[in-house]
Amino acid sequence: MALKALDIYKLLPKKNCKECGDPTCLTFAMKLAGGKTDVEACPYLDANAKSVLGATTRPPIRLVKIGVGERSFAIGEEFVFYRHDKTFYHPPGILFKIQDTMPADQINAVTARVRNESFTRVGTDLRFNGVAIENVSGSVDTFAEAVATVEKSADLPLVLIAENPDAFCAALVHCGTYRPLLHAAKPGTFKMMCGIAKQHECPLIISARGLDALSELVKNCCAEGVSDLVLDLNSGSLGEFITESTTIRELAITRTAPELGYPIYMDATRLAGLQDAAVALGIVKFGSVIVTAPLEAASAKAALTLRQNIYTDPQKPIQMNPGLYRIGTPGQDAPVLMTVNFSLTFFTLQGYLESARIPCFLLIVDTEGLSVLTSVAAGKLSETLVRDSIKKFEVEKEVSHKKLIIPGYAAPLSGRIEEATGWKVLVGPRDAAEIGDYLHEEWAKQKS
Ligand code: SF4
Repeated sequence: MALKALDIYKLLPKKNCKECGDPTCLTFAMKLAGGKTDVEACPYLDANAKSVLGATTRPPIRLVKIGVGERSFAIGEEFVFYRHDKTFYHPPGILFKIQDTMPADQINAVTARVRNESFTRVGTDLRFNGVAIENVSGSVDTFAEAVATVEKSADLPLVLIAENPDAFCAALVHCGTYRPLLHAAKPGTFKMMCGIAKQHECPLIISARGLDALSELVKNCCAEGVSDLVLDLNSGSLGEFITESTTIRELAITRTAPELGYPIYMDATRLAGLQDAAVALGIVKFGSVIVTAPLEAASAKAALTLRQNIYTDPQKPIQMNPGLYRIGTPGQDAPVLMTVNFSLTFFTLQGYLESARIPCFLLIVDTEGLSVLTSVAAGKLSETLVRDSIKKFEVEKEVSHKKLIIPGYAAPLSGRIEEATGWKVLVGPRDAAEIGDYLHEEWAKQKS
């Protein structure tokens, strides 16, 4: 159960010294209750107060940062079980795995791909996050060499995977200040791994089978002073992963088992033949770090698209800025199409218009990110909005005609738009995929 602000306030030293960055202890207590600050911000809390407050005031899933610099990413700090309850905040990092036995040119090729490959969808550049390097050779030197090869060519977040603690020490010479994620502390090695993680201030994966063993290991690592933890469930199958990751998420969100409130790690390469499915499941079922072999182009796009969809705030449609956009270099006799500022509508239509190779103007009106159908039903798309947008974006200065093509789903408004604007309204297709044929046939008729 989360503590209320007043309960938290009672446990504070009440010096009102502002060292936590808040003007009073009460403000600090209120922020702690809302999960907006950390107990560590107050230097005067004793160990007992910290242990009482720590698990109940921090976000139910701890925020963990991996890497440094522009490509670093944060995971965790999630508050809901279902995305539609609010939103998911931190998309999982997806990292391509390489083995330290691979030749340097192959390592460089994977690294370059992660560094440079980008896929633009609905106006956002989607990328993979980093590289996971596995000590398959068993050699400390070979592992360190592979890590150095990656480090030389890219400034990317890393996951270091090894059994031998000495391998980490050798590898961290090359990347120790860049917060790589270390895999993994196990029941027999946690003390040594915590020492390494503490020395380099790295986040640490803990690996155990079963929730009790994981809880125990979390407590042990926290007692060693390492709390930036990520959980490796070691699931034997996709079914087990779904069951276990779902259980952990539920126990963490409800704070029934706050010691399990850490992001989850998934290594999709362990499920031979099911890698694409494992990546997809990792994304939808609460995975925060997903390690995979480099994905084929189609699987890569599918994974990035799925991640973008799951981690888009369902309460805030992705919006375009309203305005008059050009497709190609339209002249004064080019068609003018009107649609809403829902990003998916814009980018879908833009793609089809570019394929049609008919230069045109695209008038985007502000429906607060709602789609055509929804904005017509909700009254957001109206004749006055279209009239005002034509005026505001000075469409009449751009073309020598007064013909406006509206989306098929806005057909019920066609008469009212004609009256309000004085423009002749042409009703376009309902499906954006048909816009090319429509323009080639209908617009050609209008011009003749
Ligand atoms: Fe109060 Fe601690 Fe903040 Fe000082 S640092 S104002 S004692 S909460």
